[in-house]
Amino acid sequence: MKAFTYERAKSPAEAAATAARIPGAKFIAGGTNLLDLMKLQIDNPTHLIDINDLSLDRIEATPEGGLRIGALVRNTDLAADPRIRRDYGVLTRAIVAGASGQLRNQATTAGNLLQRTRCPYFYDTDQPCNKRKPGSGCSAIGGFTRIHAIVGASEACIATFPSDMAIAMRVLDVAIETVRPNGATRTIPIADFHRLPGNTPHIENVLEAGELITAVTLPRPVGGVQAYRKVRDRASYAFALISVAAIVQPDGNGRVALGGVAHKPWRVEAAERELPRGARAVAAGLLAGARTTHENEFKLPLVERTLAAVLQDAKG
Ligand SMILES: Cc1cc2nc3c(=O)[nH]c(=O)nc-3n(C[C@H](O)[C@H](O)[C@H](O)COP(=O)(O)OP(=O)(O)OC[C@H]3O[C@@H](n4cnc5c(N)ncnc54)[C@H](O)[C@@H]3O)c2cc1C
Ligand code: SF4
Repeated sequence: MKAFTYERAKSPAEAAATAARIPGAKFIAGGTNLLDLMKLQIDNPTHLIDINDLSLDRIEATPEGGLRIGALVRNTDLAADPRIRRDYGVLTRAIVAGASGQLRNQATTAGNLLQRTRCPYFYDTDQPCNKRKPGSGCSAIGGFTRIHAIVGASEACIATFPSDMAIAMRVLDVAIETVRPNGATRTIPIADFHRLPGNTPHIENVLEAGELITAVTLPRPVGGVQAYRKVRDRASYAFALISVAAIVQPDGNGRVALGGVAHKPWRVEAAERELPRGARAVAAGLLAGARTTHENEFKLPLVERTLAAVLQDAKG
């Protein structure tokens, strides 16, 4: 690990201003992703701003009838909150499908949204990787691609975004609240937060340098049967090959988002209109234009079958 300096932030605005002022500064929350990247020298911050003393660890009701989740709420606490379990079941199910109990005790809401890809070439510093070193090439193209993207990828990067929590947040249409280095705040719909790789796969979201996430806002509960189904190589402690987050209403309409298929949580609202016609029609819309390799073409039928199982459960 390379040497770095360290401070504990005193306020969100000050943390954002400091992060923008010091080149190479980074926030640290739970540290479950960042510390691994530092030990592998993939991320080499010059200065760590520990945000754990900021009072961003509460879940509060909003005047609009939703919930405001502080950026530092631990994944375990979020999943266990009775209001989340009752009104946003898809979120609880997605969180507990991820990582391990110990990791979820430490991981935070904002850190989870910002975790990096699990593409093995990203972690192998002997291999070219445009995400780790822009312009160096993509080792996954023509390499091992079992876990890689089938939609929304580019010639520069075919990595997937590994979060479970974020897939549920996409289907729930959350908004992400931030404070910028100049002290101004803004709210970003999750649909606009994560980016597709294009020619700049190292830029994964729309945050500006130093911008701090302060909260995630859930809209009013939408009801329906809420499900999260994750398919992976092991029964636990493994990232998704694919996952399906769904909210199905009594009339058969609803919402669907996919994990494990793209560089961001994948949702195509037009495809959701096909829900009353069944999984095949929805999957066709969600995965229109998919580009697969012989190693990951299994994801196409797997999405359809997993969605079919979710819809069947919802009817039950
Ligand atoms: C072995 C292992 C298995 C895992 N399995 C899964 C899994 O199955 N599913 C899954 O979804 N996840 C999984 N994870 C990932 C885990 O969920 C993330 O590591 C965790 O959510 C990151 O949160 P953190 O608070 O520890 O982030 P940190 O490591 O502290 O930070 C991550 C990034 O976010 C930035 N950051 C943190 N907070 C803020 C903020 N408020 N504003 C702006 N930037 C911020 C940091 O600078 C850093 O770049 C796994 C992790 C490990 C190590
Ligand atoms: S898929 Fe993306 S993360 Fe993986 S090697 Fe290619 S550029 Fe790097």
